[in-house]
Amino acid sequence: MLSAFNQNLQKKFNVIDGFDFDPHDYSWSCILCGDKMSYVTKSINGRIDHFRHYSTKNCNYEQESETHLEMKGYLYEEFPKWNDIKLKDLEHNIDKQVILDVYFELNDGYTIGIECQVSKMSWGEFEKRMRIYDEKNLFVIWIFHYDSFLSTQPLSFDYEINSKYVYNEHFLNAYFSKSDTLIQQVHDIYNNRVYFYRNNKIFSISFPTELEIIKNVLYFSRGLTVEKELPSLNISEFLQKSGYKIALFNQ
Ligand SMILES: [Zn+2]
Repeated sequence: MLSAFNQNLQKKFNVIDGFDFDPHDYSWSCILCGDKMSYVTKSINGRIDHFRHYSTKNCNYEQESETHLEMKGYLYEEFPKWNDIKLKDLEHNIDKQVILDVYFELNDGYTIGIECQVSKMSWGEFEKRMRIYDEKNLFVIWIFHYDSFLSTQPLSFDYEINSKYVYNEHFLNAYFSKSDTLIQQVHDIYNNRVYFYRNNKIFSISFPTELEIIKNVLYFSRGLTVEKELPSLNISEFLQKSGYKIALFNQ
């Protein structure tokens, strides 16, 4: 995790905001499970500076990937440059079981939740999260890790498939597996766009309405797909859509 509770100072800190003391000199605990944590610097293991549980037994947050740390840190640092914020919190406790990746309160009164998704997730889990955030009056933005959900590599069995996508192999831009209907549903809720993160950039991708599922793979062609790097992370719209509260970036 990027944040932890400082037992000596009785306050939460995170590695992005940094410290005006040596974090190694203090006792830290997990903001979710309360277990002891240690501060680990990049120079020791090559990963982004972070907090690690002493014992890995139960906490969900011990198995977090480097990519997830990177995404959260990026959004936490970048979002305030483009929006008028009153308060920010990295790894925000919603309740005893749920931590929102990045939280902001805006000066105009809206509260924003940003979720960074690297691993696969079911639609049920998505809905559950959205219901929890809705109760907290949060307008939510989901950002998916590009390389974990999309690929530009053609598949080996492309040649076997008799379709226009195969004949025009160079049109094949990306695919995601049929199990990722989550992406399609998020696309529908978010006014026909999905946000993806890749190398310190956020892309908005619009998929065509005509999708084709072949051998469990959902295809779309380059000509129909609009991938756009966002000019900023400025929020331009707050909507209530399909029973969820969502926020959209200006584009
Ligand atoms: Zn923990």
